[in-house]
Amino acid sequence: MLQVHSTESFGSLDGPGIRFIVFLKGCPLRCAYCHNPDTWATKEGEQWTVADVINRAERYRSYWGKDGGITVSGGEPMLQAEDVAELFEEAHRRGINTCIDTSAQPYCGSSVQERLFAATDTVLLDIKHIDSERHKQLTGQGNESILACARHLSDIGVPVWIRHVLVPGWTDDESSLRKLNAFLQTLHNIERIDVLPYHTMGLFKWQKLGLRYRLDGVEPPTVESVRCAEKILKEGIVYSHEKA
Ligand code: SF4
Repeated sequence: MLQVHSTESFGSLDGPGIRFIVFLKGCPLRCAYCHNPDTWATKEGEQWTVADVINRAERYRSYWGKDGGITVSGGEPMLQAEDVAELFEEAHRRGINTCIDTSAQPYCGSSVQERLFAATDTVLLDIKHIDSERHKQLTGQGNESILACARHLSDIGVPVWIRHVLVPGWTDDESSLRKLNAFLQTLHNIERIDVLPYHTMGLFKWQKLGLRYRLDGVEPPTVESVRCAEKILKEGIVYSHEKA
């Protein structure tokens, strides 16, 4: 059974085309900028079977066009890897495109995770900081397993969209962006790189949950700094479709 937090019927940002998005419960990270802290706890979600998700998603199938499908986001979908793999295998049997939006925590190379990747058309992979210590300050955990997962997905040829949240004073310094770019240049499966500007739209959830928000006073990045970060991160990247 999948522990579901919520769904979105017409997502247009989390994978190709128009998508049915399933947000799962549970996340091992504690990102200082998280806009979904209400997904952190593994319990309190609704329990859905694979059939529940597929049946709900297929109501919107006529809107998907040739690219759309189902995206599983979170929280962290890899915490429920076996159920998500089962969902994606059924989706593939029905010709439905599949994406996960993940921070690759916990990645350990298990057979269940391999099964999940084998049934995933695109991985939206969040790399929050290239420096492990600063990643830990930002999210509570180092980035070793995330980078290992990125390398592995490159080795097995699963297409990825890299995502990097730009938080002024935390993730936007030029030297870190250049290090991240150097890492990305070693991967062979990148379809797209997105810089996501930090925002405070989830702040009310922190207040509602009685959580201390560590980024008080941090303003969203300027359009110019987002453009600059994009330029650095995309420099020298050869996208997978250009290699074919
Ligand atoms: S990985 Fe996503 S859901 Fe988890 S804490 Fe970070 S931003 Fe929130």
